[in-house]
Amino acid sequence: MKNGVKIDRNNRVIFVKDLEKSFGELNVLSGLNMDLFKGENLVVMGRSGSGKSVLIKVISGLLKPDKGVVNVLGQEVDKISTEELQALRLKIGFSFQSSALYDSMTVRENLEFPLVRNLKNIKSKEVDKAIEEVLENVDLPQTINQLPSELSGGQKKRIGIARTLILKPEIMLYDEPTAGLDPITSVEINNLINEVQQKYNTSSLIITHDLTCAKLTGDRVAMIVDGNFLTQGSFDDVFNTNDERIRGFYNYNF
Ligand code: ADP
Ligand code: MG
Repeated sequence: MKNGVKIDRNNRVIFVKDLEKSFGELNVLSGLNMDLFKGENLVVMGRSGSGKSVLIKVISGLLKPDKGVVNVLGQEVDKISTEELQALRLKIGFSFQSSALYDSMTVRENLEFPLVRNLKNIKSKEVDKAIEEVLENVDLPQTINQLPSELSGGQKKRIGIARTLILKPEIMLYDEPTAGLDPITSVEINNLINEVQQKYNTSSLIITHDLTCAKLTGDRVAMIVDGNFLTQGSFDDVFNTNDERIRGFYNYNF
């Protein structure tokens, strides 16, 4: 239990077994096994090119696995119909490396967009309420009428996360949430990830090679080496090792 969040180890919201994914001759994931429990923040670390983004894309149905089981909220993402996958995707929030806001739209319009596109019958009062609530939760109510170009890097990132949260996802996938941010803004985003876990009761997969992010947000940390998890456990357990492949990572970061 962290910050009063209860993790339910009997409830796996993501379950990956023996996942293999290659591109031509390049074996990226070779028999990877992973669980994400309800309420948990799982951090996946690994060097650039180790397959972290590929893993997140397979889980969200953007890439097909070559072999293995990829079960998300009880459904096998590569076996379901396009309609079922679309419905499942609404329960998965994807926070991209770039915040990917629409530059010509205000914060309000950026937040409105996923609501009206995905919830066809939503009333304008409910839209207003959802926007207000999510802006409170990311602590940026004052930015509602601003354009992305008027926001700082950290604010853009938070609005990007708000745009994902507005659909109340059960699972959040964060791909390098602190990449390219200064240390203070990084801490802000790490705190937000933990607040999201508390306020929205989400289960999150956080892909990063930022050790501070892993330490601050992860209930568990897993390290990809050679296409599979070499180790997983608490941050301290994972890094309290003599294994050079992990020590090297740690020494390089700090
Ligand atoms: P990272 O751990 O840095 O996120 P990625 O998961 O993006 O790494 O990529 C892992 C490897 O797979 C890299 O060598 C990358 O070039 C390769 N790769 C990723 N996506 C594709 C693709 N669609 N086609 C071919 N190769 C890819
Ligand atoms: Mg990546």
